[in-house]
Amino acid sequence: MTDQNSKPSPRTLIDAETIQARIRELAARIDRDYAASDCLIAIGVLKGSVFFLVDLLKHLQIPVKMDFFQTASYGSGSVGGEVRIRKDLDLSIRGRDVLLIEDIVDTGYTLRTILDLLRFRGAKSVKLCALLDKASRREVEVPIDYLGFSIEDVFVVGYGLDYDERYRNLPYIGVYDGE
Ligand code: 5GP
Repeated sequence: MTDQNSKPSPRTLIDAETIQARIRELAARIDRDYAASDCLIAIGVLKGSVFFLVDLLKHLQIPVKMDFFQTASYGSGSVGGEVRIRKDLDLSIRGRDVLLIEDIVDTGYTLRTILDLLRFRGAKSVKLCALLDKASRREVEVPIDYLGFSIEDVFVVGYGLDYDERYRNLPYIGVYDGE
Protein backbone atom coordinates (compact mmCIF):
# COMPACT_ATOMS: atom_id res chain seq x y z
CA MET A 1 0.00 0.00 0.00
CA THR A 2 1.19 3.61 -0.61
CA ASP A 3 0.38 6.88 1.16
CA GLN A 4 -0.76 10.22 -0.34
CA ASN A 5 2.75 10.97 -1.61
CA SER A 6 3.09 7.52 -3.24
CA LYS A 7 5.71 6.43 -0.72
CA PRO A 8 5.34 2.92 0.69
CA SER A 9 3.35 2.88 3.95
CA PRO A 10 5.36 1.83 6.99
CA ARG A 11 5.33 -1.95 7.42
CA THR A 12 2.97 -3.05 10.21
CA LEU A 13 4.65 -4.05 13.45
CA ILE A 14 1.59 -3.96 15.75
CA ASP A 15 -1.84 -3.77 14.16
CA ALA A 16 -4.69 -1.56 15.34
CA GLU A 17 -6.77 -4.40 16.85
CA THR A 18 -3.83 -5.70 18.88
CA ILE A 19 -3.15 -2.19 20.20
CA GLN A 20 -6.78 -1.71 21.22
CA ALA A 21 -7.00 -5.12 22.92
CA ARG A 22 -3.87 -4.38 24.94
CA ILE A 23 -5.19 -0.95 25.92
CA ARG A 24 -8.38 -2.54 27.29
CA GLU A 25 -6.25 -4.88 29.43
CA LEU A 26 -4.11 -2.00 30.72
CA ALA A 27 -7.21 0.06 31.54
CA ALA A 28 -8.71 -2.83 33.54
CA ARG A 29 -5.49 -3.11 35.58
CA ILE A 30 -5.34 0.65 36.17
CA ASP A 31 -9.00 0.64 37.25
CA ARG A 32 -8.25 -2.07 39.82
CA ASP A 33 -5.02 -0.48 41.09
CA TYR A 34 -6.55 2.98 41.55
CA ALA A 35 -9.98 1.88 42.79
CA ALA A 36 -9.37 3.67 46.12
CA SER A 37 -7.88 6.84 44.60
CA ASP A 38 -9.83 10.17 44.92
CA CYS A 39 -9.02 11.21 41.39
CA LEU A 40 -6.15 10.07 39.23
CA ILE A 41 -4.30 12.67 37.17
CA ALA A 42 -3.25 11.21 33.82
CA ILE A 43 -0.45 13.22 32.25
CA GLY A 44 0.35 12.78 28.59
CA VAL A 45 3.73 13.68 27.15
CA LEU A 46 3.07 15.64 23.95
CA LYS A 47 2.75 14.88 21.18
CA GLY A 48 3.44 11.18 20.78
CA SER A 49 1.28 9.91 23.63
CA VAL A 50 -1.95 11.62 22.56
CA PHE A 51 -3.61 8.74 20.68
CA PHE A 52 -2.65 6.25 23.40
CA LEU A 53 -3.80 8.50 26.24
CA VAL A 54 -7.18 9.23 24.66
CA ASP A 55 -7.93 5.56 23.91
CA LEU A 56 -6.77 4.45 27.36
CA LEU A 57 -8.81 7.07 29.21
CA LYS A 58 -11.98 6.15 27.30
CA HIS A 59 -11.84 2.72 28.94
CA LEU A 60 -11.22 3.88 32.53
CA GLN A 61 -14.11 3.71 35.02
CA ILE A 62 -12.30 5.51 37.87
CA PRO A 63 -12.42 9.32 38.27
CA VAL A 64 -9.61 10.81 36.19
CA LYS A 65 -8.33 14.23 35.14
CA MET A 66 -6.17 14.79 32.09
CA ASP A 67 -3.21 17.12 31.59
CA PHE A 68 -0.26 17.45 29.20
CA PHE A 69 3.41 18.11 29.40
CA GLN A 70 5.84 18.83 26.59
CA THR A 71 9.60 18.68 26.67
CA ALA A 72 12.33 19.60 24.25
CA SER A 73 15.91 18.44 24.27
CA TYR A 74 18.92 20.68 24.04
CA GLY A 75 21.18 19.96 21.10
CA SER A 76 20.65 16.76 19.19
CA GLY A 77 18.44 14.34 21.06
CA SER A 78 18.01 13.81 24.76
CA VAL A 79 21.33 12.06 25.34
CA GLY A 80 23.01 13.55 28.36
CA GLY A 81 19.68 14.27 30.00
CA GLU A 82 19.42 17.97 29.18
CA VAL A 83 15.68 18.23 28.84
CA ARG A 84 13.72 21.49 29.09
CA ILE A 85 10.01 22.10 29.58
CA ARG A 86 8.21 23.48 26.54
CA LYS A 87 4.68 23.21 27.95
CA ASP A 88 4.07 22.81 31.66
CA LEU A 89 1.10 21.24 33.45
CA ASP A 90 -2.07 23.24 34.03
CA LEU A 91 -3.10 21.24 37.12
CA SER A 92 -1.43 21.11 40.53
CA ILE A 93 -0.32 17.58 41.32
CA ARG A 94 0.55 18.10 44.99
CA GLY A 95 -0.84 15.21 47.01
CA ARG A 96 -2.37 13.56 43.93
CA ASP A 97 -1.94 10.17 42.29
CA VAL A 98 -0.23 10.76 38.96
CA LEU A 99 0.01 8.41 36.00
CA LEU A 100 2.48 9.57 33.37
CA ILE A 101 1.56 8.32 29.92
CA GLU A 102 4.29 8.05 27.31
CA ASP A 103 4.49 6.70 23.78
CA ILE A 104 7.87 4.99 23.92
CA VAL A 105 10.74 4.55 26.36
CA ASP A 106 14.06 4.60 24.55
CA THR A 107 17.22 5.71 26.40
CA GLY A 108 15.06 6.77 29.34
CA TYR A 109 16.57 10.26 29.76
CA THR A 110 13.39 12.18 28.96
CA LEU A 111 11.24 10.13 31.28
CA ARG A 112 13.65 10.12 34.15
CA THR A 113 13.72 13.91 34.06
CA ILE A 114 9.91 14.18 33.95
CA LEU A 115 9.37 11.57 36.68
CA ASP A 116 11.87 13.33 38.97
CA LEU A 117 10.09 16.64 38.39
CA LEU A 118 6.65 15.19 39.17
CA ARG A 119 7.94 13.72 42.43
CA PHE A 120 9.68 17.00 43.31
CA ARG A 121 6.33 18.77 42.93
CA GLY A 122 4.85 16.66 45.70
CA ALA A 123 2.71 14.10 43.91
CA LYS A 124 1.39 11.44 46.31
CA SER A 125 2.35 8.70 43.86
CA VAL A 126 3.86 8.67 40.39
CA LYS A 127 3.61 5.70 38.05
CA LEU A 128 4.50 5.26 34.41
CA CYS A 129 2.38 3.81 31.64
CA ALA A 130 4.19 3.39 28.31
CA LEU A 131 2.85 1.98 25.08
CA LEU A 132 6.23 0.77 23.81
CA ASP A 133 9.54 -0.19 25.38
CA LYS A 134 12.85 -0.45 23.53
CA ALA A 135 14.63 -2.05 26.48
CA SER A 136 17.84 -2.76 24.54
CA ARG A 137 18.39 1.00 24.14
CA ARG A 138 18.05 1.89 27.83
CA GLU A 139 20.81 4.03 29.35
CA VAL A 140 19.10 5.11 32.57
CA GLU A 141 16.79 2.89 34.58
CA VAL A 142 13.11 3.78 34.33
CA PRO A 143 10.63 1.33 35.87
CA ILE A 144 7.54 0.93 33.68
CA ASP A 145 4.45 0.13 35.77
CA TYR A 146 2.10 -0.49 32.84
CA LEU A 147 3.55 -1.52 29.49
CA GLY A 148 1.85 -2.10 26.17
CA PHE A 149 4.54 -3.87 24.14
CA SER A 150 8.28 -4.52 24.16
CA ILE A 151 9.85 -3.98 20.76
CA GLU A 152 13.22 -4.42 19.10
CA ASP A 153 15.52 -1.51 18.31
CA VAL A 154 13.70 -0.25 15.21
CA PHE A 155 12.38 3.24 14.46
CA VAL A 156 8.61 3.12 14.71
CA VAL A 157 5.89 5.51 13.56
CA GLY A 158 2.12 5.65 13.77
CA TYR A 159 -0.47 5.77 16.53
CA GLY A 160 0.95 9.12 17.69
CA LEU A 161 4.59 8.51 16.82
CA ASP A 162 6.07 10.58 14.03
CA TYR A 163 8.88 10.94 11.58
CA ASP A 164 9.28 14.68 10.97
CA GLU A 165 5.68 15.18 12.21
CA ARG A 166 4.27 12.68 9.69
CA TYR A 167 2.58 9.32 10.23
CA ARG A 168 1.11 10.18 13.66
CA ASN A 169 -2.38 9.43 12.34
CA LEU A 170 -1.70 5.83 11.30
CA PRO A 171 -3.98 3.55 13.37
CA TYR A 172 -1.19 0.99 13.74
CA ILE A 173 2.49 0.96 14.77
CA GLY A 174 4.76 0.59 11.76
CA VAL A 175 8.48 0.36 11.12
CA TYR A 176 9.90 3.38 9.34
CA ASP A 177 12.60 2.26 6.94
CA GLY A 178 13.56 5.67 5.52
CA GLU A 179 12.57 7.41 2.33
P1 5GP B 1 14.34 8.82 25.49
O1 5GP B 1 14.58 10.01 26.32
O2 5GP B 1 13.74 7.64 26.21
O3 5GP B 1 15.59 8.42 24.72
O4 5GP B 1 13.38 9.30 24.32
C1 5GP B 1 12.05 9.01 24.26
C2 5GP B 1 11.47 9.79 23.11
O5 5GP B 1 12.23 9.57 21.91
C3 5GP B 1 10.08 9.31 22.80
O6 5GP B 1 9.11 9.99 23.56
C4 5GP B 1 9.97 9.62 21.32
O7 5GP B 1 9.60 10.97 21.14
C5 5GP B 1 11.39 9.46 20.80
N1 5GP B 1 11.57 8.13 20.20
C6 5GP B 1 12.35 7.12 20.65
N2 5GP B 1 12.28 6.05 19.84
C7 5GP B 1 11.43 6.38 18.84
C8 5GP B 1 10.91 5.67 17.69
O8 5GP B 1 11.22 4.51 17.40
N3 5GP B 1 10.03 6.35 16.90
C9 5GP B 1 9.65 7.64 17.15
N4 5GP B 1 8.78 8.19 16.32
N5 5GP B 1 10.10 8.33 18.24
C10 5GP B 1 10.97 7.71 19.07
